[in-house]
Amino acid sequence: MTDCKISVVELCIFALMDSGFKNLLHKAQLDKEDVKRLLSAQGADAERLLQRALEVKLSHLDNCVHLRGLIEYGNTCEKNCLYCGLRSDNPKVKRYGLTDREVLSCARLAHELGYGSVALQSGERSDPDFVRRITQLVREIKKIDGGSLGITLSLGEQDEDTYRRWFEAGAHRYLLRIETSDEALYYKIHPKNGTHSFRRRIDCLESLKRIGYQTGTGVMVGLPFQTPDQLASDVFFFRDMDVAMVGLGPFIPHPDTPLFRFKDLIPSAKERMDMTLKMIAVTRLVMPKINMVAATANQTVDPQGREKAILAGANVIMPNLTPEAYRESYFIYPDKACVKDTPQACKNCLDVRLAAIGHKILYNAWGDSLAFTAPRRKV
Ligand code: SAM
Ligand code: SF4
Repeated sequence: MTDCKISVVELCIFALMDSGFKNLLHKAQLDKEDVKRLLSAQGADAERLLQRALEVKLSHLDNCVHLRGLIEYGNTCEKNCLYCGLRSDNPKVKRYGLTDREVLSCARLAHELGYGSVALQSGERSDPDFVRRITQLVREIKKIDGGSLGITLSLGEQDEDTYRRWFEAGAHRYLLRIETSDEALYYKIHPKNGTHSFRRRIDCLESLKRIGYQTGTGVMVGLPFQTPDQLASDVFFFRDMDVAMVGLGPFIPHPDTPLFRFKDLIPSAKERMDMTLKMIAVTRLVMPKINMVAATANQTVDPQGREKAILAGANVIMPNLTPEAYRESYFIYPDKACVKDTPQACKNCLDVRLAAIGHKILYNAWGDSLAFTAPRRKV
């Protein structure tokens, strides 16, 4: 009898907790404690969170997915991030750089496939030759079919003049992840030798916004020493920076990097994936109109990772267009997904996989972020 009474009380408590969680999912403005509670959701609550994020995405952005044909321009890097296989101190990397012809043929292929946009990504370089060549390449890509391709750049930290040159040449989106918005954690995953500065990273994001780029940032999820509190702060960093795009992906330990020695301290691949999905979902609730990338890292830790990210609120995919001969050298982390897929096979695969989850690719469109508002210019 007593047992029975207790379970009725328990049931009432569960029902109250349940309605509390559901209310949270519909709350107009989430605060940090709310976000922490959402990120700690498990089981049915976690499913409800993802489901709610999908509803929010569909109501603001419909079921369209935008593509950016990814061109991995080169793997030479001046930086030494403690997590990335391309870091300058990694002697095992066979360094490469695409020729201008190769880049332009990738861009033409993106156009032929109807991708609408390309994303040019590489290790960080700031030498004059690099800056000049990127400027010229952006101009040349803009000439394809009268400027029909949108251009995203992800070329690391640069001075404001460089960002402006590339913008004036025709690039209009820029991705620069903050990696973590927690300064102390930032210096645990980057060397403290003056070449990596948390302040400079933020200054770069501010420069990009000032110039008029649709600016994207993001973090890795499941880093050594990362806490749920820091992840919740990351979401508010995105909101307070008022970025137009966010990229979130699980951290993947690379054996030739210093952070690898902490691999046993980090959550399992499944836990990192689950947390990434919750981060995507919560970010969608807080910033309903932004563009959010279903990063390749999701697909790398889970064969269904890209679809799961789309169903949790992401709306952008970056299929790889890098010529096959170079792909294995862009070895950011091990077992990168889709490294061997040809562009045509990748396109067909995406069409089928996205249709299976009720989404469709919006071909031949730039797919700009609806959250973007151009900065006011002085008259
Ligand atoms: N160099 C540019 C930069 O750092 O912004 C662009 C290229 S960098 C390889 C692109 C992204 O790869 C980084 O922002 C980082 O989040 C991600 N990345 C690097 N190493 C990673 C790892 N081990 N696991 C998951 N993501 C990683
Ligand atoms: Fe270089 Fe970017 Fe890798 Fe850092 S994350 S080492 S800047 S390629």
